[in-house]
Amino acid sequence: METRWLYTTSESFPTLVKESKEVCLLPIGCVEKHGLHLPLGTDVFEASEISYKATQLETACVFPDFTFGDVPGGPSMPAGSISVPVEMEMALLETLCEQIARNGFKKILICNGHGGNTQWLNTFLRNLMNKKRDYVCAVYGMNSSKSPYFIADILNGQGRGSVPYLTAEDEDYILDFCAQKKEVGHACLGETACVMGLHPETVHLDRLGIESGLSTHEADYLKDAGIQIMNSGWDVNFCNAFHGHDPIGCNERIGKAAVHVQSHRLAKAIRVMKNDENLLRWHANFQKGW
Ligand SMILES: [Zn+2]
Repeated sequence: METRWLYTTSESFPTLVKESKEVCLLPIGCVEKHGLHLPLGTDVFEASEISYKATQLETACVFPDFTFGDVPGGPSMPAGSISVPVEMEMALLETLCEQIARNGFKKILICNGHGGNTQWLNTFLRNLMNKKRDYVCAVYGMNSSKSPYFIADILNGQGRGSVPYLTAEDEDYILDFCAQKKEVGHACLGETACVMGLHPETVHLDRLGIESGLSTHEADYLKDAGIQIMNSGWDVNFCNAFHGHDPIGCNERIGKAAVHVQSHRLAKAIRVMKNDENLLRWHANFQKGW
């Protein structure tokens, strides 16, 4: 059925609420550089489109994209990035959640495609406990960067041929990548695969090899001494907004396989949310007396 909020009519909306068992997904990304080979909207594409595909496997509503996640501002930021104050993001997200709940969805699953949102989203969840509410929020990490490892786990557990779209050569490529414990993190093989599976025309593999995706280790001495700086020094160590071994050899079949695996992974989480009876109970218990 049609699960996207914006594509639903007011008349059919109550049916969507019922079929979703009051679960609504809220995809959140950001607009930032992803190496030289991936588009600025990578995290939005992953969060939004994998959310939609997952709800075609397990019905739940998909709210319009929250595009502008947390990205540092300042003149040194790469061209095209968008930075919005976190306070504004928090206020907007809270208002949107209130509107989602007012429309009947009492379980909101924030589907996060951007690692830089993780910290403030946890603070957001904590802040929600400070006011009386009749709904709960939870965060689901898309973890697109880990896609090759998720695929390898399935191939190792269920055997070759268990992930659609892949040829024997593709399987070799992924299993070999993971056996060598190659790095993934940002604009890496996992994210490159997901974007190739969704919008192959936006991926520029010919731009690989120009900027490195490996750590400079410049800020490691602080971490080693137990000193935490912003993002644990990620922005210093991975100054090209790229973390991972070059995804040379990635192709559209691997892309479709990654999107398939990620959609099924999220569909499983939606099922857990739909069947869950504890979150709202715990929330009500916590808010007793209000
Ligand atoms: Zn990303």
